[in-house]
Amino acid sequence: MKLFTDEESRRAVATDRSGHLPATLPDGVVRAATVDDIVETLRWATEHRTPVVTRGAGTGLAAGSSAQAGEIVLDLSGMDRIVAIRPDDQVAVVEPGVLTADLDAAAGEHGLFYAPDPASSAISSIGGNIATNAGGLRCAKYGVTRDAVLGLDLVLADGRKVSTGRQTVKGVAGYDLTSLVVGSEGTLAVVVGATLRLRPRPAAIATLAAHFDDLVAAAAAASAITTARLQPSVLELVDSVTLEAVDAARGSSLRALGAAVLVVQCDGLSARAEIDAVAAVVAPFASSWRSTSDPVEAEELLAARRAGLPALERTGDVFIEDVAVPRSQLAAAVAGIQEISARTGVRIATIAHAGDGNLHPIIVVERGGTVTEGPPWDAACAVFDLALALGGTLTGEHGVGLLKRTWLRRELGDDSLSLQRSIKAVFDPLGILNPGKAV
Ligand SMILES: Cc1cc2nc3c(=O)[nH]c(=O)nc-3n(C[C@H](O)[C@H](O)[C@H](O)COP(=O)(O)OP(=O)(O)OC[C@H]3O[C@@H](n4cnc5c(N)ncnc54)[C@H](O)[C@@H]3O)c2cc1C
Repeated sequence: MKLFTDEESRRAVATDRSGHLPATLPDGVVRAATVDDIVETLRWATEHRTPVVTRGAGTGLAAGSSAQAGEIVLDLSGMDRIVAIRPDDQVAVVEPGVLTADLDAAAGEHGLFYAPDPASSAISSIGGNIATNAGGLRCAKYGVTRDAVLGLDLVLADGRKVSTGRQTVKGVAGYDLTSLVVGSEGTLAVVVGATLRLRPRPAAIATLAAHFDDLVAAAAAASAITTARLQPSVLELVDSVTLEAVDAARGSSLRALGAAVLVVQCDGLSARAEIDAVAAVVAPFASSWRSTSDPVEAEELLAARRAGLPALERTGDVFIEDVAVPRSQLAAAVAGIQEISARTGVRIATIAHAGDGNLHPIIVVERGGTVTEGPPWDAACAVFDLALALGGTLTGEHGVGLLKRTWLRRELGDDSLSLQRSIKAVFDPLGILNPGKAV
């Protein structure tokens, strides 16, 4: 077991990508190489009553892996082996530090893919994806991380090893502890291994980009696709603030085509026919649209989405919010976010996994600015209020972490929150694992 207590090592793991800056540094960081390292760390932590913050790749956006004085960080990024890919069963067995895109690429060698593809897939770990129940672009059709997890190997707060779930596609023996741990943000157990479901790579993919005169029309078109009972594998929405940033970064002229774009992909043997059906649905809303079955051209159409965040990051410090609404409420949600931006004077760009009703209002502030106070925080709180008022949720995929914990009672209510805290106490009676986060 490697324990590091020098300031540089502690500073490197003190927070994630949320922009949250803890006032103090954690006491040390354990860089685990084996399950035994994790067992030893948790036994020690239990004996000394020292809180442990488990860390994957540190790309989280809710300050879930932020750590402070009095805590130690358990860094699992070094446990990055793909233990097995079993093509005949369409499953993979992995260590928690494997990067999401690496698993997808390895599955690809067998004609398979790993469906959950957060936009951070090149830099986020499977353990972190499991702990946050990460979503992504393809989740519109294939579901979120929970839908891909068959079984987990866990180490509990006191160092005991437990396996949950199964190696089979079906199975209902006992309570579903696997699903409970997925999305528990490092507060119930440490995920030290996972058995994951893979899927056959689609035979064909067709892509469409549609441009709109305003954002509300684009959101209404996205809802119309759902209403028409079509199920694209990707359905992403990008607003004008983002398109302007992309144009400035890439020298493109996407903004000239409209104030919002929808990028849609359909896959499988009927991909072309499905994308034609999508085109028919969006045409009455759109100012123009283009579709292709050519992979190179498809990447060009996806560029507005893929380049959006890095382009916004060139214009200031960005804070990526994350709310979800029922899919029929998407137009009301984007209209509300525009109104909040106008009222508070805070610059908000919106990118959405529109197929899931999952919006990322991105608050852009001057360099060195913060989102946890002043008008940016007022704007963020107004967005949370809006999502709840529309029958939505405070977080679609990034988690509660530290940043939304004060809001959680508003969504869950007293009894549900109290039940959740009782479950935490069963797994972790001494409160060793990631205290003060999630619930
Ligand atoms: C540019 C960018 C784009 C993003 N796009 C998306 C997106 O499309 N969809 C999405 O869902 N998220 C997205 N995210 C957020 C982030 O990448 C995800 O939340 C991801 O799942 C975090 O993985 P990680 O390995 O970085 O975890 P970390 O940030 O290290 O940790 C996240 C949480 O998981 C816990 N944890 C980590 N590993 C384990 C483990 N092995 N056992 C128990 N608990 C653990 C931590 O304690 C913490 O609470 C994006 C982030 C960035 C920076």
